[in-house]
Amino acid sequence: MSVLDGMLRAGLPLIPRRVLWTVAQRYVAGDRLEDALAVLDALRAQGFGTILDLLGENVSEAAQARAAAEEYRRALAALHDRDPVCEVSVKPTHLGLLVDRALCERQLAELCLAAAAHPRRVRLEMEEASTVDATLGVVRALRPRHGNLGCVLQARLFRTEADARALLADGKGLDVRLVKGIYLEPPSIAWTEDADIVRSYVKLAWLLLDGGAFVRLATHDGRMTRELLAGLAARGLDQGPPAQRRYEFQCLMGVRRDFAEELRAAGHPVRIYVPYGRDWHAYSLRRLQHNPQIARHVLRAVLHREA
Ligand code: FAD
Repeated sequence: MSVLDGMLRAGLPLIPRRVLWTVAQRYVAGDRLEDALAVLDALRAQGFGTILDLLGENVSEAAQARAAAEEYRRALAALHDRDPVCEVSVKPTHLGLLVDRALCERQLAELCLAAAAHPRRVRLEMEEASTVDATLGVVRALRPRHGNLGCVLQARLFRTEADARALLADGKGLDVRLVKGIYLEPPSIAWTEDADIVRSYVKLAWLLLDGGAFVRLATHDGRMTRELLAGLAARGLDQGPPAQRRYEFQCLMGVRRDFAEELRAAGHPVRIYVPYGRDWHAYSLRRLQHNPQIARHVLRAVLHREA
């Protein structure tokens, strides 16, 4: 990352919310569930699978965590007939992990039960490294009773290989979304160079797939994906109807649609992650900090306003 990019990243949180929103709309369906449902409908019509996410994280009161679970229940009811296989993605700290782990676990178990009327998966996301122990604790406690619960592993963390082995040892039915990891962690616990993160990602993909897991390859990295596709082909995993494969690709709304379309056109299963909700600020900042090119546009827009 250049010095200028570093400065852009650091300056983004200072940008007024209304200016940021004009750019954030690319990554977020809207404030309301209805906005997200409309985007999901359009994606399904184009042949993509879908993931629904309610924005929000790091809640500090039980009432906020309960409100999040209530909104997820409303979303599951709305998805009932409309999209029986839409994955529902949940941040542990949104369901109350930092307030009361038991509350988070109880609420997640209820969502898994509510989703189980369909072949629908509830995915517990992975956040900052400080929350990984508690998050994996929740996953490992619930997995034996809730086969539709999936998790996320971050390739940038040194600890992830050991975590993956422990999850595989817990038994069959492991379903993992594998990501590079969006949270920038210190070099004492994580790789910080992209080449190292890619090496770790590819190694973890084969560890999980060869261990029998279903792996959701969540990435927009074209070069790494070519390596993943070659490995999938070498293992014969890319054969048969897409719905019966043990892998899929996952991409974010607003990021490299061309890449997602190419994968889908080549016959690979692809899902698109669609976030919605009023709490779009932290999520959008992370996305923009990841993309200095867009950050430059935002700063230019701010400077023009101020001029
Ligand atoms: P990169 O090398 O970062 O990106 C590859 C290319 O994609 C870039 O060159 C650029 O062209 C494009 N690109 C990437 N990001 C952007 C962007 N914001 N705007 C425009 N272009 C972009 N991380 C977590 O820590 N926990 C999670 O639970 C989690 N869930 C995720 C769910 C999904 C479906 C996806 C796709 C990602 C998720 N992530 C999560 C984020 C992930 O960890 C990465 O930070 C993110 O996907 C970028 O890494 P990459 O693999 O796409 O590779």
